[in-house]
Amino acid sequence: MTDFHSGARVICPTCKTRTFIQDAPWKLQCVTCYLARKGKTAPTAHYPVMIDPIEPGMLRRLIQLCHPDKHQCSEASNTATRYLLALKGGKHG
Ligand SMILES: [Zn+2]
Repeated sequence: MTDFHSGARVICPTCKTRTFIQDAPWKLQCVTCYLARKGKTAPTAHYPVMIDPIEPGMLRRLIQLCHPDKHQCSEASNTATRYLLALKGGKHG
């Protein structure tokens, strides 16, 4: 039995082009071939990561906290406020 703890980098026997770290006995292919065999592609291709939206109340609070009026109109506060307003839907106020 091979010692898999070392995690040898081996060439994928299926595609013969990609390599993968064989750090477990069941890892016999590169990730791409493994997913292809299972009829899948990389998860992000079909299931984009959804970030929970900031609650409207919290967004308003963040805008208040970042508002340039409270930060001597610093560039950072302007940038942050603009970003938060964009999240809010571009509506000012
Ligand atoms: Zn492969």
